[in-house]
Amino acid sequence: MLISQDGEGKKFAEIRGHGAAMIRRLFLPAGKDCLTETRKSDERAPVIIPRSEHTVSRANISKNALKVLYRLKDGGYQAYLVGGGVRDLLLGLRPKDFDIATDARPEEVRALFSNCRLIGRRFRLAHVRFGREIIEVATFRAMGEAQDDEGHVVHESGRILADNVYGTVEQDAWRRDFTINALYYNIADYSVWAFADGLHDLEARCLRLIGEPERRYREDPVRMLRAARFAAKLDFEVHPDAAAPIPGMAALIDGVPAARLFDEFLKMFQFGHAFASYRQLRRLGLFDHLFPQTAGRLAAAEDDHEERMIEQALRNTDQRVREGKPITPMFLFGVFLWPTVEARAAELMARDSNCSEAQALVSASTEISLLQARRIALPRRFSFPMREMLQLQPRFLQMRGKRAMSLLSHRRFRAAFDLMLLRAEVGELDGEIATFWTGIQEQSPQEQRKTLGTSSGRRRRSSSRSRRQGSAP
Ligand code: ATP
Ligand code: MG
Repeated sequence: MLISQDGEGKKFAEIRGHGAAMIRRLFLPAGKDCLTETRKSDERAPVIIPRSEHTVSRANISKNALKVLYRLKDGGYQAYLVGGGVRDLLLGLRPKDFDIATDARPEEVRALFSNCRLIGRRFRLAHVRFGREIIEVATFRAMGEAQDDEGHVVHESGRILADNVYGTVEQDAWRRDFTINALYYNIADYSVWAFADGLHDLEARCLRLIGEPERRYREDPVRMLRAARFAAKLDFEVHPDAAAPIPGMAALIDGVPAARLFDEFLKMFQFGHAFASYRQLRRLGLFDHLFPQTAGRLAAAEDDHEERMIEQALRNTDQRVREGKPITPMFLFGVFLWPTVEARAAELMARDSNCSEAQALVSASTEISLLQARRIALPRRFSFPMREMLQLQPRFLQMRGKRAMSLLSHRRFRAAFDLMLLRAEVGELDGEIATFWTGIQEQSPQEQRKTLGTSSGRRRRSSSRSRRQGSAP
């Protein structure tokens, strides 16, 4: 996942709304409704919109992306900003990243930039690095009817495993996923090239796949997740032709590598549209294939408190993103897994009367997170703290003594506290417990000791020692 760090948020607010107006004036035939119209986008030639008639401005493109575009152009190559970068700028949004397409081969791109690395097997791509920003440069590729004959490696299920047949910008456009992503900004004259009637769909706020939906999903099942994500992020409708096959094909997600699904998880849930993404995933039958245990648990639940807890966590995450507060993927992961972990821990305790709640939670959280890792590869740096956050939950019931004090200084206190608040909000815990732990954080260390009943007697151990001891769940 590539994230722009250019910090130019202000400018985007100014052009919001503007872009849409420009497109409307130029491209949308009055009275046409994208969602009821089944149109065959087989017009191969692009619509070319000159600079004077669109709102994509260099002022809103990352300086590094411009550097790459110009260097390619000066090297005698074609160079376009492509996909989400152009789409978001036309919508008046701030792009998450800037991708570039060119007729230069990956090795030729590498020769132009010292800060460039070639990556990928399925697609060979060039990554040009500028500090924390990475500009992805892809060589135009071909795809089409003669796909198999042209040397693509295709799995028997129809999935594309390798796709390195180079082509022209026209050919490149038709292998892209949605029409609104087949948009190119040409650095040679600053025009926008729109293929597959993408501007029409952009204006109609409609997600339409290029080509035949079933085939496109078979080639790459992640496109189904992308449909859910773009619908959520952009507040677009998925065209019925693109939405209808998804529930029946959702099981293809099971064959996608778990590491790629973690990247998709981040894009869906860490960029301010987590709640909407979740709703789309559920609606389209995709969530069951990302979090099968959670989906099973929600389906079997007697009431909706677990679902409400998950939805509240998603809203809170979106709110934190809006406020620029830090977020971590382990928190939502933990919330998704908590209902299953809790149920499994109860089962273990019922089976063995010597098993404490703490032990049961350690076993259950390990077991459930290992099962989940087969679907989505949550890196260890997140899965370990996530389990700690879950395992700390019973500790909130103890509101006196040293154990309570050490909970306060536990490195996972904050995340565990946030999860506990959610549980209290949906009635899983007594509200007084939440009030107690909220209040005590406002107190001075001395007051805290008094509240928890640890202030009497000799001086306390050094704080570093107590923190060390307290870090064991
Ligand atoms: P965002 O950056 O907001 O996630 P994006 O559309 O830019 O949205 P990227 O994942 O950055 O998405 O991909 C850049 C472009 O590459 C897309 O706009 C699309 O044209 C193309 N693309 C990406 N993934 C696929 C895919 N699985 N199948 C076909 N085309 C794809
Ligand atoms: Mg992008």
